[in-house]
Amino acid sequence: MSGGTSAAWVARSLHSVWHPCTQMQHHETVPLVPISHGRGAWLVDTEGRRYLDAISSWWVNLFGHANPRINAALKDQLDRLEHAMLAGFTHEPVVQLSERLSALTGNVLGHCFYASDGASAVEIALKMSVHAWRNAGQTDKSEFVCLQGSYHGETLGALAVTDVPLFRAAYGALLQNVHVVASPDARRGAPGEPASAVALRAAAELEALLEARAGHIAAVIVEPLVQCAGGMAMYDPVYLQTVRALCDRHQVHLIADEIAVGCGRTGTFFACEQAAIWPDFLCLSKGISGGYLPLSLVMTRDAIYQSFYDRDVARGFLHSHSYTGNPLACRAALATLDIFRDDDVLARNRALAAHLATAMAPLAADPRIANVRQRGMIWACDAIVDDAAAAATFSRRFFSAALEHELLLRPIGRTIYLMPPYILDAQEVDFLGAATQAVFQRVMSQESHP
Ligand SMILES: *Cc1c(COP(=O)(O)O)cnc(C)c1O
Repeated sequence: MSGGTSAAWVARSLHSVWHPCTQMQHHETVPLVPISHGRGAWLVDTEGRRYLDAISSWWVNLFGHANPRINAALKDQLDRLEHAMLAGFTHEPVVQLSERLSALTGNVLGHCFYASDGASAVEIALKMSVHAWRNAGQTDKSEFVCLQGSYHGETLGALAVTDVPLFRAAYGALLQNVHVVASPDARRGAPGEPASAVALRAAAELEALLEARAGHIAAVIVEPLVQCAGGMAMYDPVYLQTVRALCDRHQVHLIADEIAVGCGRTGTFFACEQAAIWPDFLCLSKGISGGYLPLSLVMTRDAIYQSFYDRDVARGFLHSHSYTGNPLACRAALATLDIFRDDDVLARNRALAAHLATAMAPLAADPRIANVRQRGMIWACDAIVDDAAAAATFSRRFFSAALEHELLLRPIGRTIYLMPPYILDAQEVDFLGAATQAVFQRVMSQESHP
């Protein structure tokens, strides 16, 4: 990398680099933040300003930037094998990773299929489901069910089961029709109604659909416990138990998309554990490589694996990506699992999550805040902004104000949420609470224009 001042390459970034999920014209008024390096929970820009990464760089980073243990594993792997194709070849990191992840499910999900990004894992689960039914002689089962407010990625198959109007609108003509059923989001309840009642009501809607249509439906896809990109909608685990029973009764696969909620984010390694169920397909990505390298995978059951096992090529699962099972990414994942084991991360996170709740209490008590909620290492609340113009720009104004308070925070609409790395120390948690509240006060006192 060239040293010296950053100004030249930062300006050029706006022409050659098309940034994701961004209206590029907004950058006429809002500058890009040029990141020079990261250390622990902090990102540092080229001017030396630092930002606490309170959203784990889009939910991927678990144990901090430039983590010495993950770095060491990657340096070792780099000198052994950077990549080899996974058709006809194999390597130790991918075998070890598959075995260790399977063991975490008690070997119920004993087969791992690899890709690079989350959306691809969702595509794989959808294709595998339809193909497994076809291999079983059920050629009519090719429809999918997703939940209101669901998010499963932005490639065409994943976008079809994503219920975010903004992301779908322009591409509707390209998307398969799917069934969208009620979300168990606890906020949809009547005042005082328990989350479990909201969940059971939502499950009843799914039950009616399956009774009418199960012969055509391949799978139901859910984000267990928290619908993240849809606005951190949290729900009662009884929903997952009920859906598991319905899927069994009606012969429909259950796909658990744990891309965001897996890897300890909700308090258990897999979110499904809190409902004591296993899906037929479980998608992992984001945190699995510690936030280092693109890696995703789909775990599935032996019965499904066996339905593809045959002499006939066409009965095999027909899907591949160039970087399937990349050894570097798998080594980063193994180092990540080592940290979970060696540091008893899930136990430590219980204390950390409790501290987070305490640090956020002053903001939670603000009368302009509603629906304060938390599940493990996800904390969220909704800002009450009555003025429509102010509401429309709330997220961007919050993001900009947060940067001035040394925070990386990007609300979803008016939902302010924290999804920090698991390595925050006590001082950093307190800083996060105080700074988030200061940002909120500032944004609420602004004019609505950005
Ligand atoms: C982020 C996300 C995806 C998509 O993962 P990408 O790596 O961004 O393609 C899918 N499902 C859920 C629940 C996610 O949060």
